[in-house]
Amino acid sequence: VRNITSGPSMEILPEAKLEQANKLLGGLVLSDESVRKIREIFIDEINTGLDIHSEKKSCLQMANTYVPQLPDGSEEGEYLALDLGGTNFRVILLELNNGRQTKEIVKFYHIPDSLRLGTGVDLFDYLAECLHQFLEEHERLQDKFTVGFTFSFPMYQRSLSCGILVAWTKSFNCSGTVGEDAVQLLNNAIKKRGDLNLEVTAILNDTTGTLVQGAYLDKSTGIGLILGTGSNACYIEKADKVLSWEGERPADVSEVIIDLESGAFGDNGVLDFIKTEFDIQVDNNSLLVNSFTFEKYIAGKYLGELVRVILVRLHEEKLLFTGELPPKLLTKNTFTTRYVSFIEEDSINNKTENTKAILEEMEVDFDLEDVAVVKHVCFLATNRAAKLVSICLAYLLERMDRDNLVTIAVDGSLFQFHPRLRSLMETYIHSYAPKRKFALMMAEDGSGKGAVMVTAIASKLKQKK
Ligand code: BGC
Ligand code: MG
Repeated sequence: VRNITSGPSMEILPEAKLEQANKLLGGLVLSDESVRKIREIFIDEINTGLDIHSEKKSCLQMANTYVPQLPDGSEEGEYLALDLGGTNFRVILLELNNGRQTKEIVKFYHIPDSLRLGTGVDLFDYLAECLHQFLEEHERLQDKFTVGFTFSFPMYQRSLSCGILVAWTKSFNCSGTVGEDAVQLLNNAIKKRGDLNLEVTAILNDTTGTLVQGAYLDKSTGIGLILGTGSNACYIEKADKVLSWEGERPADVSEVIIDLESGAFGDNGVLDFIKTEFDIQVDNNSLLVNSFTFEKYIAGKYLGELVRVILVRLHEEKLLFTGELPPKLLTKNTFTTRYVSFIEEDSINNKTENTKAILEEMEVDFDLEDVAVVKHVCFLATNRAAKLVSICLAYLLERMDRDNLVTIAVDGSLFQFHPRLRSLMETYIHSYAPKRKFALMMAEDGSGKGAVMVTAIASKLKQKK
């Protein structure tokens, strides 16, 4: 049996070089002591984040999502959803019959950098334009729809239909939007056109969508996780622990989905003790410097860049690749997280061909020692990410304190395409929360489909009133 959780060795290196390499890379290895410490800090930040009276400010937002209920099988109707925030922007049309998802149309749209980094008005006009294109293509322009909006950025919600943008992350930074309600921005763009019969009635984060879609697929779902371009988690909290209610908490609400915004874990410096020189460089090379510390250790937008920065540093120390480095490897974001996944596949299968192909693609001169080092670096980056995310999940499982199995619904390209991130997480979660029963479940497109489910639930409750 292959041990999928142990990393590839660099034993092929001569002793002196091996020692030097291990020294340079040592900071990427999280000791059990560091893991314990991170866990303690995480618990502390969660409690502070939930305590609205606390004088200390938490780096975790612990945002109330105002999702009124999980799906119970009585959802009906046809709904549109928009999913914005990751690699792909999608429009989704989903039909629900007796709570079952019966018809589904998904279309991807490209968002150019000019719109990601332009004005908010242009961005939201474009989203409305995509909705128009979608409905025109399916000859549904005359129909009226309510729309759910998955907006995968930190927001402060006042209700299910109000999400004030707190900050941009990942590859978006549009002017005139922070502090504004994204629902209003989208509804305005829709109304302004005059040719769409749509109303946005629900806004949610992608983790929330994933949790709700997870609950549709499997009733035991209690946590939603995104491991994609970005990273974040949400979980079901007891309502009496949630003090951040706009107005009175409805009497019939006993549980609330809380969006941690765990990508920002460490933004107040509490995790500085694990920060390496490589992390500082990844942050400096990112669009939004000095924010989303944790996400930059974990997510798909950054994992490849982390590996690239390490490789360049190893070369400086004459531990990797002879000769000058090609411009490609010296350019930021050229080494993608997909490459990390490919190279990890080699390590699992005791092969070298993917690694060689990628190094050729990167135009470096390499030998077998280099191949071993590159594989090792990809494992170190992956393994640290797996540990970090598992520390959080393990604690959330303990916090939820359920006797029965808790399913963790996961969406995102990193989780989907990495060959062993899942096995690593299963191993670490089990080791950090040995008494808890859990299962990781891929909820593909959960972030978007969940928006439809939430919109349907809200419509259903509104009709009952
Ligand atoms: C955002 C989160 C989101 C995550 C995954 C982060 O950058 O702040 O709201 O859930 O990315 O898409
Ligand atoms: Mg997504």
